[in-house]
Amino acid sequence: MSSPWPLGVFTSVDAGLGVKLEVARDLGVPTIQIHAPHEATRTQAAADAFLKKLAEYNITLTCVFCGFEGESYADIPTVSRTVGLVPPETRVARTKETKEIADFAKLLGCQTIGMHIGFVPHDKNDPLYAEIIAITREVCDYIAKNNQQLNLETGQESADGLLQFIGDVQRDNLFINFDPANMILYGNGEPIAALRKVGKYVRSVHCKDGKWAKNPGQEWGQEVALGQGDVGMENYLRTLQEIGYTGPLTIEREIPQDPVRQKAEIGGALELLAGLKKKILG
Ligand code: MG
Repeated sequence: MSSPWPLGVFTSVDAGLGVKLEVARDLGVPTIQIHAPHEATRTQAAADAFLKKLAEYNITLTCVFCGFEGESYADIPTVSRTVGLVPPETRVARTKETKEIADFAKLLGCQTIGMHIGFVPHDKNDPLYAEIIAITREVCDYIAKNNQQLNLETGQESADGLLQFIGDVQRDNLFINFDPANMILYGNGEPIAALRKVGKYVRSVHCKDGKWAKNPGQEWGQEVALGQGDVGMENYLRTLQEIGYTGPLTIEREIPQDPVRQKAEIGGALELLAGLKKKILG
């Protein structure tokens, strides 16, 4: 992509929280990330049909996000128990599925896999920490054969925790999908300071906004429409510029229960980002 910061939106085919591809088309969004479809849809025929639609709509796919049956974002303890590759009882099956999703992404010509890996223990001496390092290496090594990279979604760790984790995994295809709202929603640190810290690993981003909880880290903050939360979008974009990030600005608005409002708010977010891009990039 030649011009910096193409706008984008998080979409889904048949699973996950994203908007339908047609919403991206209707709003004239040039790039998307997608939530990986269910297993039955991860076929060559489905990939071909999807690529045909993308070409027709003039949309570029920039990242395929893993998601798994049984994950729940109901509250922070539930996330800890159910999300990503951390829960031991689903780890083997989900690792296998991650590889299958990566192979499907390859059929779509996509070199970036995104994932909430789950709550990595903060204590390096916790035996679970070494297990998560090992499983992340296994995924990174597998997808490297597809010429792919893994971008970890931020939020469940502090910036320092994430840096330590990436350093310990020791794989050069492990990066970050930075989500500033998640830092607030999970109560894991002020997003702009976090972005500066992890900047060199940031290869994709979400544009999402949120408000701090009264007791950050113990209860959820509140996700809100872009520009109405505590992130500070102009400051966010200026910091992205500062760290040299030129990739897509992918809007994520997680209110699938209200698709009409979701589409309207994504429209508003596109306008906000287009205005800020103009202001910052000239
Ligand atoms: Mg996100």
